[in-house]
Amino acid sequence: MGRIFSVQIVVATMNPGKVKEIKQIMGNIPVEILSLNDILQEKIIKIKETGNTYFENAFKKAKTVTRISGKYTIADDSGLEVDFLNGQPGVFSSRFAGEDATDEENIEKLLKLLVNVPEEERTARFRCTAVFYDGSQEIVLTADGVCEGKLATKKRGKGGFGYDPVFIPEGFEKTFAELPLSIKNKISHRAKAFKNLRRKIVDYFDF
Ligand code: IMP
Repeated sequence: MGRIFSVQIVVATMNPGKVKEIKQIMGNIPVEILSLNDILQEKIIKIKETGNTYFENAFKKAKTVTRISGKYTIADDSGLEVDFLNGQPGVFSSRFAGEDATDEENIEKLLKLLVNVPEEERTARFRCTAVFYDGSQEIVLTADGVCEGKLATKKRGKGGFGYDPVFIPEGFEKTFAELPLSIKNKISHRAKAFKNLRRKIVDYFDF
């Protein structure tokens, strides 16, 4: 017999990798995690990330999906902050090289801006803000996660997405694109944000 869940939460993303990661993190609490695909059934929605902060973008995604589904929602937004560039590209990470830029174009722009910058000045971090939204009560829970590291001088590895081929997390020599996903999912900004959010959700529902 299937497990009876008391609470259903929709993850506001079309990315199946993110849904899987969040299901793993939510693990043993009595919550059924639904993907956007489960509720949209083939329809595609694109939510523009127009906010000036990760929170604004994450909250916008959560509110939009709550309006469509009528259910609790979790959403996130993240970006890469490079110290040498005073925290850029940050909230603009996905469109660093232009509105519809590819990951390759964004990385190329980043590496060009860091040409000849020595290793000790190539520090950077991924930051993620995750939110849970209860639309019926207009309650928002929010949590952050950070993953420190440094930037390689050229792309390495085939895994992951975004800036993974140039990001070397602290304590490792390999980029996120070279490391197994199981390691990335333990130490990433997103994993940390969702672990923190999980604690707040447990308190909220008194599980
Ligand atoms: P999102 O908010 O998670 O969709 O991320 C926004 C952008 O930040 C992505 O398009 C990537 O460019 C970058 N980014 C966020 N998380 C990661 C990651 O884990 N690896 C590489 N790039 C990331």
